[in-house]
Amino acid sequence: MNYQTVVGLEVHVELSTKSKIFCSCTTEFGGEPNTHVCPVCSGMPGVLPVLNKKVVDFAIRAGLATNCEITRYNKFDRKNYFYPDLPKAYQVSQLYLPICRNGKVEIEVEGKKKYIGIHEIHMEEDAGKLVHDPWDDCTLVDYNRCGVPLLEIVSEPDFRSADEVIAYLTKLRETMMYLGVSDCKMQEGSMRADVNISVMPVGSAKFGTRTEMKNMNSFKAIYRAINYEAKRQIEVLESGGRVVQETRRWDDNKDASFAMRSKENAQDYRYFPEPDLLPIEIGDDWIKDTKDNMPELPEAKRKRYMSEFGLSEYDASVITAERQVAYIFEDTAALCGKPKEAANYVMGELMRLMSETGTLAEELEIEPKKIADIIKFVSDGKINRSVAKEVFEAVFKKNVDPEKYIEENNLAMVDDSSLVEEVVAKVIADNPKSIEDLKAGKEKAKGFLVGQTMKALKGKANPQTVNKVLDEKLKEVLG
Ligand code: ADP
Ligand code: MG
Ligand code: ZN
Repeated sequence: MNYQTVVGLEVHVELSTKSKIFCSCTTEFGGEPNTHVCPVCSGMPGVLPVLNKKVVDFAIRAGLATNCEITRYNKFDRKNYFYPDLPKAYQVSQLYLPICRNGKVEIEVEGKKKYIGIHEIHMEEDAGKLVHDPWDDCTLVDYNRCGVPLLEIVSEPDFRSADEVIAYLTKLRETMMYLGVSDCKMQEGSMRADVNISVMPVGSAKFGTRTEMKNMNSFKAIYRAINYEAKRQIEVLESGGRVVQETRRWDDNKDASFAMRSKENAQDYRYFPEPDLLPIEIGDDWIKDTKDNMPELPEAKRKRYMSEFGLSEYDASVITAERQVAYIFEDTAALCGKPKEAANYVMGELMRLMSETGTLAEELEIEPKKIADIIKFVSDGKINRSVAKEVFEAVFKKNVDPEKYIEENNLAMVDDSSLVEEVVAKVIADNPKSIEDLKAGKEKAKGFLVGQTMKALKGKANPQTVNKVLDEKLKEVLG
């Protein structure tokens, strides 16, 4: 029998607000354990939460970008459970009236487009972190992350392959980063997904029983886990067994998943409306204001780069893959007025240096003004293209001023015909073999002579001048 894989995702995104959701503690990642805490987020009795309005702003933004309806009257609920990283013994979340509902996100896999339904997006607070210390054989608890705002984005079970899941996660991540609502650093857990997987016979109208893998924060692991788990479930069914609804843990090193707990002893969270927080009412003004201030999303940017700047679809998508890179490109293009040149330097030099030095997009500090200056110096004939690369690298690595750097290192283009003529004459005299070759019709020899001339002029000559002078001299020599 042939089986169809079905996947649904619950994605958690940590919001990049300055302060936590119900107190003024910082949301900054890391820090000495238990230093980013106060009586509110560490769950002292008798304290009262105050909602951070920015969290609602970000949720509306995320909802609009994923085509959701905004729930004009929404509320918080308490989800009760005991765990050492949750000092209040409840998490403030939204069960009955989540802020966003009924959205959809378009994805594309191998040229085929489809929509993934968004069931809801709700606001909630993050829990702390347990640190297991194998040395002292004890577990420590760090409450710094308690109360950091989260959005949980719940999809419909609309995925039919691991490739669709990765396409969606990539798009979601890109969108949230462009919206400025989250840095989505997977390695710091600011984006993580619970992955629900089931299989059913192809053509079946009824979904199979699902298992869930929680808190996955690597696309690669998610991809492997889906394929592994689908295969495991098919084997269970084929051998006459039944799939048990349970939470499983993915072990990327062992390349396998293991049962953790089954739904039979799942917890009852005893949700009830949060009595300490007022319902949130969202008026037309708030929605309009958010719409008016939405940053341009990557898809719109790609289309604009193609129509406005004449970039290819491929170039436009490479540049927009990271927000910071897109902004650097746009600012550079605006400053030098040469979008294609700006695209070439961003895709060529900038990306090469990023991968060479292992620099992440969010760590980029290069000033677009300096890239624009380099582009101008090339088009004004101040430096040639190979020198431009050298200057770019110095700007990237040492943040030098391009003009000063060119001056101090004597890199300005040599365009003095008499000097070039002198050098060409010497190169021709020193390389009789090349002249023989040229006489014998071996055109390649000319390239060698150009190279020798360039080298003698320390790479700074105007290549056009070198070619012109060499052609003239060769005419004389070759007759
Ligand atoms: P629960 O209330 O138990 O958490 P939900 O209905 O909220 O269940 O679904 C949780 C997630 O599981 C959603 O992302 C949904 O798309 C996904 N899901 C539900 N049923 C299935 C299934 N049969 N196969 C795969 N994913 C599923
Ligand atoms: Mg759920
Ligand atoms: Zn606090």
